[in-house]
Amino acid sequence: MDNLSALIRDIPDFPEPGIVFKDITPVLADPAAFTALVEALAEPFRDSGVSKVAGIEARGFTLATPVAGLLGAGFIPVRKPGKLPYETVREDYSLEYGTDSLEIHTDAAQPGEKVLLVDDVIATGGTAAAAIRLLKKIGADVVGFAVFIELSFLNGAQMLDGVPLHALVKYD
Ligand code: AMP
Repeated sequence: MDNLSALIRDIPDFPEPGIVFKDITPVLADPAAFTALVEALAEPFRDSGVSKVAGIEARGFTLATPVAGLLGAGFIPVRKPGKLPYETVREDYSLEYGTDSLEIHTDAAQPGEKVLLVDDVIATGGTAAAAIRLLKKIGADVVGFAVFIELSFLNGAQMLDGVPLHALVKYD
């Protein structure tokens, strides 16, 4: 995990002043690190009966799709408004830097289906909380939220409505 942490690049004042952006592209560019990251995200959920992995647009897709492959599960896109073509449900949320909405297809999971949520970073937890609300709205059983980086000083873990957080690297 130290090797992975060393590849996370801090970009001060991006996308706006006061935000230190955690840039994971150096991790994604390194084949060994990328593989180790995907395996570590999936590890606790290998025997959990997860049949779908949901990823949050856009960096979440990058991690959720290989995690889904590793777990033998399908993939669910959680997207920004207006991107999904079929019937959707929508949730609004506040970001560390702004507000936005997320949507999911109404048939993305069956009632009671076990779903793992994946993203790159949890900051305030608003994004993940909205994704969890969407998954629960369509009846999914959200078994966990696997995330590469937790900015724990923002207390996002408390926003997850009881869904267990699996974070690989924490910044206090
Ligand atoms: P939040 O809703 O505040 O937990 O923000 C999480 C979402 O915003 C994730 O999808 C991240 O990709 C992105 N994000 C928020 N803060 C940062 C940050 N400091 N560095 C990188 N990504 C961030």
